[in-house]
This record gives sequence, structure tokens and C-alpha cells, in this order.
Amino acid sequence: MDEATERERMRAALARAQRHADDWLDTLAERAIRPDVGIEGMPARVDSVLPASGREAAAVIDELAAAVEPGLMAMGSPRFYGLVIGGAHPAALAADWLVSAWDQNTGSRRTAPGTAAIEEVAGEWLLELLGLPEGSAVGFTTGATSANLSCLVTGRDTVLRRRGHDVAVAGLAGAPRLRFLAGDAVHSSVVLAGRIAGMGAPQRVGGDEQGRIDVAGLERALAADPDAPTVVALQAGDVHSGAFDGFEAAIGLARAAGAWVHVDGAFGLWAAASPRHAHLVAGMDGADSWATDAHKTLNVPYDCGVAVVRDRAAMAASLGVQAAYLPGASGVPDPWDRVPELSRRARGVTVWAALRALGRDGVAGLVDGLVAAATDLAAGFGAIPGIDVLNDVVFTQVCLAARDDAETAALGEWLRAEGTVWASSSMWHGRTIVRFAVSNRGTDAEAVRRTVDAVERGVRALR
Ligand SMILES: *Cc1c(COP(=O)(O)O)cnc(C)c1O
Repeated sequence: MDEATERERMRAALARAQRHADDWLDTLAERAIRPDVGIEGMPARVDSVLPASGREAAAVIDELAAAVEPGLMAMGSPRFYGLVIGGAHPAALAADWLVSAWDQNTGSRRTAPGTAAIEEVAGEWLLELLGLPEGSAVGFTTGATSANLSCLVTGRDTVLRRRGHDVAVAGLAGAPRLRFLAGDAVHSSVVLAGRIAGMGAPQRVGGDEQGRIDVAGLERALAADPDAPTVVALQAGDVHSGAFDGFEAAIGLARAAGAWVHVDGAFGLWAAASPRHAHLVAGMDGADSWATDAHKTLNVPYDCGVAVVRDRAAMAASLGVQAAYLPGASGVPDPWDRVPELSRRARGVTVWAALRALGRDGVAGLVDGLVAAATDLAAGFGAIPGIDVLNDVVFTQVCLAARDDAETAALGEWLRAEGTVWASSSMWHGRTIVRFAVSNRGTDAEAVRRTVDAVERGVRALR
């Protein structure tokens, strides 16, 4: 391969990528949020025949952009409220490009000292911002699901080890029966993580109408079998209501019973970074492990989740690797001792970039801005005749319903097709709802006004 030519190809392809990225980002605020072409229409746009021969890299990038662009959802728009999706901070997006160019396999501190060191600083900053115990292990995962998995596996192994059972050697067969407790509104991601971890489905101990765990129910469940090895999963930020479990009481009971306590705080853990909203997570720092996302509230590009475990050695015992060819331990756990992967991109670098760009005050302002936008959305929706906001808006989630389920379902369809906004339809307490999750730092007063206006127009169009 001709070196110079290869460099030229790389330069040309990257220039095309930057051009297409700019074109996309330039249109993001004003284009319709929904894709122009749905999944049914995409096969006709993407040639499915495996090409016999190759193409120039820059031309491949042009072909890719042309094929995919009509099928792109404007997820980075300030009026996209589906799932829980943040935009991308400029520093984080640009850092992500660099991460790809550097292409450092950041599993090991020895082989990727530059990116490993930046990730370690990002981890320490996260602990400080989120009010988590100093010295906890921080792993950068693909998302909160794999962060939940990393934490639950560590919890599982730890409570079984205390009963003399080493899962790493003996597996789960013959282990004491593990108890996995959660509130009724436990997120499906925790359920999935528990399933993969061989813990079975969580036993639901009850919950209130906002989705908070029933603490009395937890107490009863713990007392029913005081000697059972137990993992309790709590929640910071219910996907529908945004509600937070009563951590102080729940963690106190669970720890007194010798349980491992995990907190799924995919977006809600970030309340801790705001002096105005930290009260929502009071006592949460008493848990053993925490999962959150950076690709939600912090607005770094996909994908980036965070697994935090208080006991570093426990995390390394469950997730660490030992093999003859791997660079030896340096006393400090390697990145691959904190995630379920060996090879991995340096995804934590985007966290460093976002935190460096925002600073402590900027992160607090980001969280406060999201909550303010959600509060304003709820007030605006509530003023529309026949629209009710069903949840107590304590954080970033707003669920609305129209006069009946059919009208609410139609409103959701109308909004998504009209294109000014995109919000998910869901079911909550047996009712059809449209759910707005505010997670983009660009969702300002103007975006809120246009969103409320779109709902108003939708209601008028349907009646
Ligand atoms: C989004 C979310 C998850 C899953 O996170 P991923 O990053 O999608 O894997 C888990 N729990 C809650 C509460 C969430 O909102």
C-alpha cells in the first residue's frame, strides 16, 4: 500500500465526513424531527447486493450519507423528547471524533496511558459531581443497561461470596438462592440485566402511583427471609414520572439486612449535580453501586454509560480479567477490570470533554435547565383544555393524556407525523399517554413554546 496515497484517502474521506456532519447539524434545529423515510422505505435506498469490488473511501462516505440521511431522526433536536435522549455537546462530539482517530484500545492503562488517564480523571470528576464515595471504581460502559449488568453481577457475586459461595469458580449451580428485590416500577433494563446475571426476575415489593418503591413492602420482603443473600435495585428517575425512590429509608433497611443495594439512575442520578435538585437523591450515596448514562443528561454522543461500585476490589473480582498475555496489574484496576469488555474505545473521553467544557456550574445549569423546561412544558400542556398532565413533574419527565385513550393515541400519532416534535406514546397506570422526556441542553423557552403550540394544534386538528 502506498503510504502517501493512503493518507490522502484518509484526509479526503474525513473531509467528506466533516462536510456531511456539518450539513446534518446545520439542519437539525429546523428540519422535521421524524425521518422522511421510515424503515419500510429504507431497503429501496440501501443497495443490499454485496459489491464485488471496492470504491474510493470518500465516495463510500458520500454514498453512505446519501442513503442514510432520509432515514435519520433528528434526535439531537431540542424538540425531540423520545426515549431519554440528550443532544451532543460540541466538545463531546469533537472529542468523540478524536477518540476514533486516535483509536486507542483503552482496556489497559499500560497500553493506552493517554486516554486511560483522561478517563480516570473523568471518573473522579463524576464521583465528585454525583456525590458518590471517593475511591469508588468507575467503568465506562456502552449504556446504563450494561452498567446495571456490571453492578448487579458484582453485587450478586459479593453477597454469595459472603455465604461462602464463589460464583467465579462454582457458577450459580448449587449457590444459595439469591433474592433480587425491586419496586414495581423497576426499569426493563434492570430486569434484563438481572436475567443475564442469572438472578431471575426481580421480586416486586410494591410501589406508589409515581413509581417510587414501597418502603414498607421492602421491609416486609427483607424480613420474610432475613438470611437470604439479597440484592436490592432502587431507582433514581422513573421513566414515566421522573420520580425518585426514598433512598434514605430504603437503603437503611436494605443495608441493615445485609443486602447489596444498587441504584439505577440512568438519567436521574444527575439530580445530584445540581444544588437545587440534589435533595431528590438524598441518601443515594449510601448504596453499594450506581448506574448512569452520560449519553442522556450529560449530552455526550452515543454510546456512554457509567458503572460505579464502591468496593473497587469487588468490581475487579467480578469483572476483571487475568490472562498471561495481558499487561500485568499495576495495583490500580485497569479499565477492563471495571466493564464487561476487554477491547473498548475510549468512550469516557467524551465525558471528560463535556465536563471540562461545562464545569461544575455548567452541569448544574444543564440539569436545572432540563427541569425548568419540563416544568414549563407541564404548565403549558395543563393550560390546554382537555389535556391533563398525569405525573407530578419533579424532574425531566412529563406524561400527558387527552380526553380518552383513543384521542391520546391519535394525538401522539399526529405530533410525530406533523414533525415539529417527537414524543413517545406509552401506557401508564392502564392509560394511554404521550411522554415527553426533556434531555437536551438546547430545549429552551422557544423550544417549549413551539412544543406546547404543536400539542395545541394537534388537539384542535383532532377535535
Ligand atoms: C435509559 C434507561 C436505562 C437504560 O439505559 P441504556 O443507556 O439505554 O442502556 C435504564 N434505566 C433507566 C431508568 C433509563 O431511563
